[in-house]
Amino acid sequence: DQHQTRFKRVLLKISGEALMGDQGFGLHPPTVQRIAEEVKSVRDLGVEICMVIGGGNIFRGLQGSAQGMERTTADYMGMLATVMNALAMQSALEELDVHSRVISAIPMDQVCEPYIRRRAVRHLEKKRVCIFAAGTGNPYFTTDTAATLRASEMACEAIFKGTKVDGVYDKDPKKFPDAKRYGDVTYDEVLQKHLGVMDASAIALARDNHLPIIVFSLDEPGGFRGILAGKGTFTRVH
Ligand code: UDP
Repeated sequence: DQHQTRFKRVLLKISGEALMGDQGFGLHPPTVQRIAEEVKSVRDLGVEICMVIGGGNIFRGLQGSAQGMERTTADYMGMLATVMNALAMQSALEELDVHSRVISAIPMDQVCEPYIRRRAVRHLEKKRVCIFAAGTGNPYFTTDTAATLRASEMACEAIFKGTKVDGVYDKDPKKFPDAKRYGDVTYDEVLQKHLGVMDASAIALARDNHLPIIVFSLDEPGGFRGILAGKGTFTRVH
């Protein structure tokens, strides 16, 4: 198979905004469905998949607090937004007969499972996609940090961060045509040069746990599967 991959267990991180398509807000079901198909094609290779989805398409804590809301309350609203996105993804995966579990850092038993590490590991071993929701469960964090935390706990080999561009650039490639893409870059370089891969706490946690971050474009159809097989363009932070 030309799509052989050496990866056995990975975490896919996407922002909430990746689910809103061309709309300015919320969920765009055909876009959610398309990403679910990307996940299925990798699941079909036998790879165990964790997912963390942001909430920025619905609510961001910083936005709320900028408008006068108390920060921690606003952050809890942001965490709840990620649960909605996770449920939408689960429903799209179900449509494709891919088994999954939504696992929340904040228990809400009627809606999804609470996070219990050994139970989540068991789901992965049974090839169920684990969608980790509600971030880390703590205010003042982001879903990038949640992704790094869960990837470490689940012993993932790498975090795959699906974005709108095919890697990490020295400046915004959508604004500057002469922007240069990094093939490889170190965690420290990302931190020193403020390259917008993930926030600093997420990068530092990945560095301390030797967890590579692979930044690729989720806009390319088949992109996730291709990248796992080492094809296409991407940046490896390590
Ligand atoms: N959030 C939080 N703690 C976490 C993860 C998320 O408080 O561990 C809140 C925070 O307010 C954040 C919002 O949830 O703004 C949505 O997450 P994020 O901004 O990471 O989403 P993305 O930008 O990836 O869509």
